[in-house]
Amino acid sequence: MIDVALLGTGGTLPLPNRFLSSALVRYQGQLTLIDCGEGTQVSLRKLGWGLREIGTILITHFHADHISGMPGLLLTIGNSERGKSEPVTIVGPKRIRHIVESLRVIAPYLPFPIIYREMTGDPHDEINQGGLKIRSCIGDHEIPCLIYRLSIDRGPAFLPDKAKATGLPVKYWKHLQRGETVTYEGKTFYPDEVLGPPRRGLSLGYMTDTRPNQNLVEFLSGVDLLICEATYGDPADYPKAVENKHMTYAEAALVGVTTQAKQLWLTHFSPANHNPEFFRPQAEALYPHVVIGREHQTTTLAFTD
Ligand SMILES: [Zn+2]
Ligand SMILES: [Zn+2]
Repeated sequence: MIDVALLGTGGTLPLPNRFLSSALVRYQGQLTLIDCGEGTQVSLRKLGWGLREIGTILITHFHADHISGMPGLLLTIGNSERGKSEPVTIVGPKRIRHIVESLRVIAPYLPFPIIYREMTGDPHDEINQGGLKIRSCIGDHEIPCLIYRLSIDRGPAFLPDKAKATGLPVKYWKHLQRGETVTYEGKTFYPDEVLGPPRRGLSLGYMTDTRPNQNLVEFLSGVDLLICEATYGDPADYPKAVENKHMTYAEAALVGVTTQAKQLWLTHFSPANHNPEFFRPQAEALYPHVVIGREHQTTTLAFTD
């Protein structure tokens, strides 16, 4: 199971009723934050999932609305009694260390170590944070921007009837279930004898700020939830979307359709879009169950069988 919360849905600047685009992912008690603009720590506190448990921070790119909240957040995590032995891993595009360390001129003393991890957008480059696998792909924005795919694997089902048929006593079954071979009374038993076929895991895509393209569609194919930027609602703003390297609602909806995302949440609304719900039909016409992102909207991605 993966829990996901939207911390904000704004682009460019925070508004009195709209935090900047950011998301929080909870897996096995560990929190992964995606992007940290100005005010993100306030939204985190309002959500109440914790701050001390943030072990990984993924930064999409170095525009202020996605990273300027970092020094304050790191100080707050530092004050939350996160210990010396609990590093925070900060992942981002090339130069992530340089950019964050520059911001840390105003937050030099932290009780925990920081591990920096650059990603270049090679989809084969994978980070495994306690079973949560992180991959990235480069988007089409004004500056290098990482589009993230977070996923967990799932082992094959254990088939008790098959295990019974092998004649192996029950107390040894757990070893087969874990994928180990067992030798009992001179006979060797293999996991394949008692396990079903591979099963689908769970995945989440986070796609902002970017123009849509085929590479990204392939990279995010089949995700259970796609959180996708939709900076402009009005179709008349399409030229602006092209020029500023963002997307319209309709374009985001089309990404939802072509990736075959099971759920689609829109985010990163322009400050000029005063009522993100107003333009819903633009997206709904293509992706009927689209969700217009709201602050602190949450969901749990769970196995269906
Ligand atoms: Zn942005
Ligand atoms: Zn940007």
